[in-house]
Amino acid sequence: MSDCLFCKIIAGEIPSNKVYEDDVCYAFYDIDPQAPVHFLVIPKAHISSVSAVTEENCAAVGHIFRVIAELTQKLHLDSYRVVSNIGEQAGQSVRHLHFHVLSGRDMTWPPG
Ligand code: AMP
Ligand code: ZN
Repeated sequence: MSDCLFCKIIAGEIPSNKVYEDDVCYAFYDIDPQAPVHFLVIPKAHISSVSAVTEENCAAVGHIFRVIAELTQKLHLDSYRVVSNIGEQAGQSVRHLHFHVLSGRDMTWPPG
């Protein structure tokens, strides 16, 4: 999608601090970290949010969770939180599916 910030990051049109990349997904550090470790994992295909996950595109989501498991092991993160905000009220500011991976500090529940 030409006017999507994260599609532009995937295309290299906007710089990012890459953590990992393969054919299906891209991971990069959040520009405004909310924890000592905070990166985002996104599908390369444009999917607007969890609400737009379908039978056709859901393999990318499973793949992303496998990548999260592998990356967190590689980074020695044994406790972390995975978050995806859907819609305005939940705080979604970029309409391209992304999973926040946050780690390195105590976290509260319920989230704010
Ligand atoms: P959300 O608010 O859940 O939609 O998450 C979007 C995230 O993208 C926020 O945590 C932002 O800090 C992050 N973000 C926005 N622009 C950039 C960028 N250019 N590079 C890295 N992270 C970004
Ligand atoms: Zn996009």
